[in-house]
Amino acid sequence: MNKLLIGYLYKDELNLYGDNGNVEVLSARCARRDIECEIVLISKGNLSAYARLSEINLLFMGGGPDSSQKSIYGDFLEEKEPFIRDYIASGKTGLFVCGSYQLMGDYYRAADGAELKGLGLFKAHTIHFGKNRPRCIGNVRAKINSKLSSDQVFKNVDFLGGAVIGFENHGGRTYLDAGAAPFAHVTYGHGNNSEDGTEGIIVGNCIGTYFHGPILAKNPHLADYLIAKSLNLPELPKLNAGLTVASYTASKKLR
Ligand code: GLN
Repeated sequence: MNKLLIGYLYKDELNLYGDNGNVEVLSARCARRDIECEIVLISKGNLSAYARLSEINLLFMGGGPDSSQKSIYGDFLEEKEPFIRDYIASGKTGLFVCGSYQLMGDYYRAADGAELKGLGLFKAHTIHFGKNRPRCIGNVRAKINSKLSSDQVFKNVDFLGGAVIGFENHGGRTYLDAGAAPFAHVTYGHGNNSEDGTEGIIVGNCIGTYFHGPILAKNPHLADYLIAKSLNLPELPKLNAGLTVASYTASKKLR
């Protein structure tokens, strides 16, 4: 069985909400199945320093405050864009959470009005309306888009009926371009913008989402989907899911 090589972008700058836990969950769920997993930390600067870019089969990038997004977006645009563009076009998997999801879109207009140009690889844009609008904070529950949940690989690892739960904390409100596929549809909480019921985005085999939690800790079926998809496996050996099922059952009481 081949190795999961995770490219982890800007770990130090974009990890305010514990999103590095997603990489820990992927690594642990691989280890419990004797799947080799390695993490390549990708920070600011020229990618030529990374000899094994072509071997990366799962990209991850977390969330953070406007200030952290401002500290990396220039590097993200100038140094990383070509690699990520080719990576997505090649059909490889990725998970971009909150602040990084926003920077994968056309632009992020921050709380102070500064417009951070994004990579434009996710057909969406984000606007933070400043203090005039309350932040989107709280528990969130959604139903994954059938575009993803109908994938046989997802069906083979899903044991929660395509639901996904988490926590969100963002001031930016994301608006998908016409025709863009949301990751999920919100059944409790805010999602992309508190207006249209969408949550996140799917582009190729990459997911953008506002779910913290970390999302993969709260949704191990999604973690398993990303592992199997990244390794081109139809499914994975099952792991005990008692605690997860209990947390989902409890989440159904969310009103
Ligand atoms: N700073 C961005 C916002 O407030 C992203 C926040 C995050 O990554 N949780 O919308």
